[in-house]
Amino acid sequence: MRIILLGPPGSGKGTQAQLLVQRYGILQLSTGEMLRAAVAAGTPVGLKAKEIMASGGLVPDDVVVGIISDRIDQPDAKNGFILDGFPRTVPQAEALDELLKRKHLKLDAVIELRVNESALLNRVETRVAQMRERGEEVRVDDTPEVLTKRLASYRSQTEPLIHYYSERRKLSTIDGMMAIDEVTRAIHRQLLALGAVEPKTHARSAAKAAPAKKGKAGKKAKKSAKTAKKAAKPAKKAAKKAVKGAKKASKKTAKKAARKTAGKAVKKGARKAAKKVTKKRAKR
Ligand code: AMP
Repeated sequence: MRIILLGPPGSGKGTQAQLLVQRYGILQLSTGEMLRAAVAAGTPVGLKAKEIMASGGLVPDDVVVGIISDRIDQPDAKNGFILDGFPRTVPQAEALDELLKRKHLKLDAVIELRVNESALLNRVETRVAQMRERGEEVRVDDTPEVLTKRLASYRSQTEPLIHYYSERRKLSTIDGMMAIDEVTRAIHRQLLALGAVEPKTHARSAAKAAPAKKGKAGKKAKKSAKTAKKAAKPAKKAAKKAVKGAKKASKKTAKKAARKTAGKAVKKGARKAAKKVTKKRAKR
């Protein structure tokens, strides 16, 4: 399964991506994470991205497209992935379409997490406080000033993707203001509806599962059962006739036998009587 999570900073894309990773066993590909790693490692990409990221701007399209293209080619991405923070511009989305086509891969869905913008600042403040509590390093771009800039670039450069994917019938919008687990459930339901994930298979016997078959296969099965029933009708009729015939025949045979026995008995009786008469006459 290959999906994109779309939403402004603080909409919960990262959290949901991690939960989806646990649930479906696919990779989370976060361009933000990859760029932060490149910055920390001091690679050429990192050096290029460092200042842009710290100010809340967007790293050039060709840089992020290159990172994603290489990452998708790794063997661990074979089962699928969740793109978190990519694409962020229409040219990035076009480049992604192109590279997926080249690699013969299909995009299953684009999930937009829609949130109330006024709640975003609160969310990011909470995230920062929690990271500090855990003793984690806080992102340099998680400040109210930089967040305002990141939000502005989301609105102008990323929001057009909603139209882009909606036109291509790939977009599903989910209320990102719900509780975390409710959002996860809504995403799962959406993925099920799109056929991107398999429903949990229950331990049902084949015989029990068969009547539940729906769709083309189910219709076909129903039709062939009807045809079989129809085909069996003459055989049933013939069998009934045979039973009736056999009953009749056995009755006839029984009657005949009775008659025969009775006839024999009569003959025997008559012979006995005649013998008696002959004996009496001889005595006289
Ligand atoms: P994120 O962790 O997704 O919020 O990304 C952090 C920062 O990395 C962004 O503010 C951008 O500067 C940069 N970045 C991440 N993904 C992209 C992308 N797809 N295109 C351009 N810049 C990106």
